[in-house]
Amino acid sequence: PSSHNGSTEDCCVKVAVHVRPLIADERAQGCKDCVTVVQGKPQVQIGTHSFTFDHVYGSTGSPPSAMFEECVAPLVDGLFHGYNATVLAYGQTGSGKTYTMGTGFKDGCQTGIVPLVMNMLFSKIEALKHQTEFQLHVSFIEILKEEVRDLLDSTSVNKSDAANGHTSKATILGKPPIQIRESSNGVITLAGSTDVSVSTFKEMAACLEQGSLSRATGSTNMNNQSSRSHAIFTITLEQMHKLSPVIPEDNSLNGSANEEYLCAKLHLVDLAGSERAKRTGSDGLRFKEGVHINKGLLALGNVISALGDEKKRKEGVHVPYRDSKLTRLLQDSLGGNSRTVMIACISPADINAEETLNTLKYANRAR
Ligand code: ADP
Ligand code: MG
Repeated sequence: PSSHNGSTEDCCVKVAVHVRPLIADERAQGCKDCVTVVQGKPQVQIGTHSFTFDHVYGSTGSPPSAMFEECVAPLVDGLFHGYNATVLAYGQTGSGKTYTMGTGFKDGCQTGIVPLVMNMLFSKIEALKHQTEFQLHVSFIEILKEEVRDLLDSTSVNKSDAANGHTSKATILGKPPIQIRESSNGVITLAGSTDVSVSTFKEMAACLEQGSLSRATGSTNMNNQSSRSHAIFTITLEQMHKLSPVIPEDNSLNGSANEEYLCAKLHLVDLAGSERAKRTGSDGLRFKEGVHINKGLLALGNVISALGDEKKRKEGVHVPYRDSKLTRLLQDSLGGNSRTVMIACISPADINAEETLNTLKYANRAR
C-alpha cells in the first residue's frame, strides 16, 4: 500500500478534504462507497492508497460547522488584521464544490462557506463598529476560456451560445474586456468589473444570489459552462481604526495621524471541474475550453506546490503566477502574508474512484 503524508505544520497553504455522502443518483446506479475516512486522523483511504491532509471531513463524525470553524474562520479573522486570504474548492464536477462553497446560493438558503463567512463578517463588524469604520465591497466574476466575465453586471444580456461561444459578451456589447492589473506595490485589481458596496448581510446575499443565477443562466443547453469555469466571489474589507477617540478642542492634531487604515480581501473560489477534458465536441471548441481549464488548474497546482515547498521558497524559486488568469488574479492572496485553504471535494462512489484518486493526488501535491 502506498502512503502519502503531505501534512506539515507551519505552511501558508492548508489542505482539507471533504467527502460528501453518496447522492440519490449514485445510489440509484448501485454505486458502492469506496472511500474510507480513518477515525481520529485526518486521513482518507481509497483502494490501496492512503493520504493524510490537514483536515478530512466525512459524511459521518464531524459536524457541518467544523470545516468552517477550523479552515475558514481563522481567515475571516485575518481579514480584520489586514491579511488577504483565499479559499478554493477543487474537485471533479458533481463532487460538491458548489454545495460546499455555497456559491449556488438561492432562495435564502444559507448553507455553505460563503453564507457562513458573511454571517461571521457582519457579526464581527457589529461588535467592532464603535471603534472602527468599515467598508465592504464584493465582486463576483467567472473565468472561462481565460476570459473574465462579470457575474454582477446586470446591464449585460447573455448572448453567447454554442454557436458563437467564442464571442464574449463584452465584445458584443462593445465593452472593453475586464483586465487584471497589478499596482506598483503588488496589489492586484480587476479593471472594468462591477464592485458593489454593501453594508448589510442582505445586500451581500443579493450579490451572491445574482451572480449565482447569472452563472447558471450563462450556461447553454449544449454545454454546462459552470463546470468548466472558475467562479470567484471576492469580499474586500476596508477599515479605519479610530486609534485616538479624544480630539483636542483646538484641533491641533491632524485626524489622519491618529487613524490606521487596513484593506484586505477574501477570495472564495469555486473552481472548474477537475475531470480530464474529453474531446466530445464536433468542432473541437469544447476541447479548447478543456485545455484552458487545465491551464488554470495546472497553474494553480504549480503555484501552490511552489509555495508549500519551504526549501524552494527559501531559495527564492520563481512562483509561476503569470501562467493563467486564475493565478494572476489570486497572486496577492496566495502566498506571502496571505492565507490559503484548499478544500478538495470528493465523491465516495466507486464509479468516481479514478477521478477521486486524481483529486487526492493533486491536493497532496499542493502540500
Ligand atoms: P460540483 O459543484 O462539484 O459540480 P455540486 O455542489 O453541484 O458539485 O454537488 C453535486 C450534487 O451533490 C448536488 O446534487 C448536491 O446537492 C449534492 N451534494 C454535494 N455535497 C453534498 C453534501 N455534503 N451533502 C449532501 N449532498 C451533497
Ligand atoms: Mg458546481
